[in-house]
Amino acid sequence: MAHVVVLGAGLGGVIMAYEMKEKLGPDDRLSVVNLGETYSFVPSNPWVAVGWRDRDEISVDLKSAFSRHGIGFHPEGAAKLDPENNRIELNGGETLDYDYLIISTGPALAFDEIEGLGPKHFTQSICQIDHAEAAKSAFDKLVANPGPIVVGAVQGASCFGPAYEFAFILDTALRQAKIRDQVPITFVTPEPYIGHLGLDGVGDTKGLMEGAMRDRHIKWITNAKVTSVEEHTMHVEEVDEKGEVKQGYALDFNYAMMLPAFRGIDAVQGLEGLVNPRGFVVIDDYQRNPKYQNVFGIGVCVAIPPVGKTPLPVGVPKTGFMIESMVTATAENISALLKGGKPEAVATWNAVCLADFGDEGVAFVAQPQIPPRNVNWAKRGKWVHFAKVGFEKYFLHKVRSGQPDTFYENLALHLLGVKKLKEIEIRPAD
Ligand SMILES: Cc1cc2nc3c(=O)[nH]c(=O)nc-3n(C[C@H](O)[C@H](O)[C@H](O)COP(=O)(O)OP(=O)(O)OC[C@H]3O[C@@H](n4cnc5c(N)ncnc54)[C@H](O)[C@@H]3O)c2cc1C
Repeated sequence: MAHVVVLGAGLGGVIMAYEMKEKLGPDDRLSVVNLGETYSFVPSNPWVAVGWRDRDEISVDLKSAFSRHGIGFHPEGAAKLDPENNRIELNGGETLDYDYLIISTGPALAFDEIEGLGPKHFTQSICQIDHAEAAKSAFDKLVANPGPIVVGAVQGASCFGPAYEFAFILDTALRQAKIRDQVPITFVTPEPYIGHLGLDGVGDTKGLMEGAMRDRHIKWITNAKVTSVEEHTMHVEEVDEKGEVKQGYALDFNYAMMLPAFRGIDAVQGLEGLVNPRGFVVIDDYQRNPKYQNVFGIGVCVAIPPVGKTPLPVGVPKTGFMIESMVTATAENISALLKGGKPEAVATWNAVCLADFGDEGVAFVAQPQIPPRNVNWAKRGKWVHFAKVGFEKYFLHKVRSGQPDTFYENLALHLLGVKKLKEIEIRPAD
């Protein structure tokens, strides 16, 4: 009889729990440790931040969902992991022992690395539901008192799609409020070019994203390092190919949203062999930690090297499809180990992403993630917005019920031209 624990019940952890439960025997036990009793769908946060969704519409009560599936739940969260003794110290002092552990704790947000950055200071965030709600209050103030917006991501970030999405969503929401003409928008990013996305571009994301920005009068600064933020002013240095400062900017704003760099959560920081110096979980091809072989990692918390050298640090994104493939490989590998076998399942790690603009969007598929690729596809259209809404409904249904919602899955996958979620096949050249 084995006790499997999933640490972190976000996008990866919740489906990990359901997939793992399916593979366990009747005597095995499954528990989930999370910070909080509720799941909320992070990809909808940009919509919350302009009032197109509220918290309840994108949240699921995990306590009842897990209890219906016979999954133990500890919503107090982990204070410290003790992998030498196969133990988690929970907030509040209790401990939980495990035979196998899957870490899916997502990112800690490194706002403190730049003076004045983050919701406790002068810039908004859409990384968490609380942040998105605060960003909505700030957006309401902007509508009442229009002025410039600065939006984007800081050096070391590894999540660029949502930064672009939010720039375009703000543009759409401001046009709907009929005040776009009073709000200049500047997009600030460490990427060496627009549409790089931490993946050295996918298909023609450079052309598509630049074109969309020109269409919507969004200016941009690439190779941009944010040095500090004050109330209403962001200090930015644009660097050249060698990383040397080319030009400095003091960008005035009435509203700013910048995605921070990520690092690992405190509960795993500094555990030698388990995590890298930034606290991301080190894994092998089978999602397994080489030192602690009963510990696996999935989602944003795992370490992935950058795709290539850039003047400023630009991380690789870990998107939903990629995370789902990590989940399936991990469930299969732990199941094999429990049956006395060896881990053999490898995640596809393909990047599939829908960047919503509120009324249209850009979709892209990168297979594999690192170029040169077998599939390198990107397309702009109104259908992307509807596909994204489909994914939201599909995923929230899956979290509530533990079952895949085939209607929405099929709708979204058909729109995307993808036949299967985990074995991506692309329709030729449309
Ligand atoms: C604004 C935004 C929009 C995005 N949009 C998309 C999109 O449209 N499509 C896409 O494919 N990807 C998107 N992503 C990327 C990615 O899919 C999401 O970030 C996704 O939520 C990552 O899943 P995860 O399970 O790794 O982490 P998370 O979903 O962040 O989950 C981590 C979980 O760990 C828990 N946790 C943290 N610390 C502890 C602790 N000490 N103890 C216990 N639990 C803990 C948290 O409470 C949380 O529940 C987006 C990311 C962001 C930030």
